Amino acid sequence: MKIKFLFIIGFCLSFSINALAQDTKQILQKSLSALGDWETADNFEYSTQRTNSDRWQGYDFSNPIPEKDEFHLAFDLKNNRFLHHTRNHYPGGYLFDTYRLGRDGTYYVYDGIGSRTGKDLLNLGSSSFNNRKNALLNNFSYFILKQLLAESKDESLLTADNTWIISRKTSSGTEEYCFDKNTYLLKKITKSQGQDTLIQHFDDYLKTDGLMIAKKSSLERNGALVYSDSLSSFRHNKGVDPKVFDFPPGYKTVTEQTPKLFAKMLTKDVYLIENVDGDRNILFVNMGNYIVLTEAPLSSATTRSILEIIHTTLPNIPVRYVHLSHFHNDHISGIAEVVKEGATIICAESMKQPVIAMLHNGNTAAQTGDASFIVFNNKKVLQNGQKKLEFYEVPNSHAKGMSFLYLPQEKLIYQGDLLSLPADSYLTPAIAVTREFSDFLHQKKLPFTKIIGHHGLPLISKKTFDEVITMKEPVSH
Ligand SMILES: [Zn+2]
Repeated sequence: MKIKFLFIIGFCLSFSINALAQDTKQILQKSLSALGDWETADNFEYSTQRTNSDRWQGYDFSNPIPEKDEFHLAFDLKNNRFLHHTRNHYPGGYLFDTYRLGRDGTYYVYDGIGSRTGKDLLNLGSSSFNNRKNALLNNFSYFILKQLLAESKDESLLTADNTWIISRKTSSGTEEYCFDKNTYLLKKITKSQGQDTLIQHFDDYLKTDGLMIAKKSSLERNGALVYSDSLSSFRHNKGVDPKVFDFPPGYKTVTEQTPKLFAKMLTKDVYLIENVDGDRNILFVNMGNYIVLTEAPLSSATTRSILEIIHTTLPNIPVRYVHLSHFHNDHISGIAEVVKEGATIICAESMKQPVIAMLHNGNTAAQTGDASFIVFNNKKVLQNGQKKLEFYEVPNSHAKGMSFLYLPQEKLIYQGDLLSLPADSYLTPAIAVTREFSDFLHQKKLPFTKIIGHHGLPLISKKTFDEVITMKEPVSH
């Protein structure tokens, strides 16, 4: 009935200049009705098995092995609350057991096993509640199209091979929505944002608990698969156990803070910047007439903010070297910024290729020039009259070509992802990569008093390290 009515309106208006816009709305309406009676959904639960193929987080950049992750979403639309639980596995024994909870108009995040953010119940406030809610609903064709229809104004409608294509401009680029001409079901969304092209696919629609839902969905970035989801369960209007929205017992509420970054002197000429983007710590060393920096995290903007602190702390001393612990994108995404300052990259030989790939990602050759590298196998020493820095490559299962920085005079180690403890010092048994790191330190007989972690707790004593190594997994019942 509704469709017919809209069709008539569409027909009348088709004589006006708005003909195409109206056609777009018709397609969206038809597509929405093809998905079933989602409007009556008060609550639903949805689970998928996710195959994560992100090569920037794998062990070997040139041979990524997919990880199996779990994704569960409980949504109480009527009472405006949700719980999103993900279990993400990363090489070397990492498991991120993350709960994202929305209730009372506020968004919270906590770690189910405590290995990452300890027993913190992070209150992210009310402004992020709607953002997260919309991001979660945007996994579903129905909510994507409902939103598109509400915003619909001057999109163009194209037709190609058996598909309708609705195309629109956004503030960051363009978006194309492809629909099957026969079924009107949404097949894919292509988003072009700057240098990046993201494609979200929706396949194998099936009537599941009365509603049409894509059993397979996936995301591609610049032609490479990032993840694919396979539906494991869906049910709606069966009620969601209200207990799932309870706060976890034994957790402490904390609010997110964006403290002003500053460099803290750990010992003569050795500086630490804590809380970079919340949970990261960066080390830099003054060698007298030049500086050595560790890591180039997250993005150009994050790395730039680190460089600014270095330059205000030690004016007129150039950053001549940057050591990259491993190729994972959260550790090297800002590398172009450091290279632009003329720094040479120090890393294990086997990670040169991904670093070059990252440099080419979104940067022109003119911006980064020919980046210079010092690559090494096993060990590299950088020394002048004042200081000695040693870089050790570690056999490990987290990332090929991983190395750490050792300062023998200071008996200090700086490392990324070999040992990560929560900032609240909650301890859980060491994972595989941390045990490999411990074995390596014993084998090399490197004397140290403190280890600095890139993530979470900045300064880790030898005693704490020994404690996590000897901790036993709790017996599960
Ligand atoms: Zn990593």
